[in-house]
Amino acid sequence: MVVLLVDALGWELAARTPGFAAMLPERRRLETILGFSSGALPTLFTGRMPAEHGRWLMYRRARRGTPFAGFGALALLPPRLQRSWKLSRLLARAVRARGVRGYFDLYDVPRPLLAAFDLAERDDIFAPGGLPGDSLWDALERSNTRWRGWNWRTSEAGSLAALERALESSQEDFLFCYTAGLDALLHREGSRGAGVRARLAAYDAWLDRLARAAARRGEELWLYLLSDHGMVDVTSTVDVMGRLGGLAARWPREYLPFFDSTMARFWWRGAGARDAVRTALADLPGGRWLDDAELEWAGARFARHDYGEDVWLLDPGALMVPSFMGARPVAAMHGYDAAHPDMAALLWSNRPVPAEVTHLRDVRGFLERELGALGAEAA
Ligand SMILES: [Zn+2]
Repeated sequence: MVVLLVDALGWELAARTPGFAAMLPERRRLETILGFSSGALPTLFTGRMPAEHGRWLMYRRARRGTPFAGFGALALLPPRLQRSWKLSRLLARAVRARGVRGYFDLYDVPRPLLAAFDLAERDDIFAPGGLPGDSLWDALERSNTRWRGWNWRTSEAGSLAALERALESSQEDFLFCYTAGLDALLHREGSRGAGVRARLAAYDAWLDRLARAAARRGEELWLYLLSDHGMVDVTSTVDVMGRLGGLAARWPREYLPFFDSTMARFWWRGAGARDAVRTALADLPGGRWLDDAELEWAGARFARHDYGEDVWLLDPGALMVPSFMGARPVAAMHGYDAAHPDMAALLWSNRPVPAEVTHLRDVRGFLERELGALGAEAA
């Protein structure tokens, strides 16, 4: 079994690319979750929704024991120094030295404000024990499956080449590779970019080589091409921070905000600030407030409001500029309403995909059943 998980490979993009992954005729569109890979990948690997596994967005409110403890003192530095690249590298190293092994980026989060936040992903989510509760990796370990995986910790080219070599030597029954190369290209170029097309052609050629090599050895290869979400081309920008800057209520004194690229999240210190901010953004075109029912439906209603007491979500195609993620617009983004067609993920295979597999949370169970079928065939 070989699983290639391509971050941001949307159903729409893959389906409209002529000839792409022709060796995988079993094609299923997967509903994704509201949010980013930081929530979507845990849902893929655990089969549970964000509110159940606890992971939604990269940054959440600190309770106790944040890896950014003490960063508040950075407010004493001149603003230019706070934003310097050298300091960022130093801070990232300090965070890793405090035991964070997950994926994170400090982006443009105001450095002193980091102390109020925590990273949801502290451990390696691609390894046994790296996710809350039980995951696909824990199941692999329990069933004594011989397996290997690659993820963002190694380069995409290196990972794909290593997986190809591992397949030659036939030591493992399950090979897995996660890559975020296409995600980065899509952000930069948009879905019609030349680099995007070239990368899809490269994945196609790689899958083809794998299938041919296995056929030459007389092996049956079960191939699964998987993604966590799609990508929406950016058509407008929304200046949320500018709008809030004009209010009498100021952050971080009267409320604590976090500005993701498609969501503004808030923790309130008083009712006055909440009313002012809610009114100001209700009038701002390009987004809307999510209510509890909607968050509940999206599987992202957290009882303790770890990710915000109120969430303002941008419309698909609108990008928050500036945000804590960056000051400049990008060509495409995700993290929108999961119902938008371009947000849908996919599972393509040369194995039948049962009708009940329609959502990210169905994938883990499906792969485990496939592993079971594989074991039964070998025995
Ligand atoms: Zn992305």
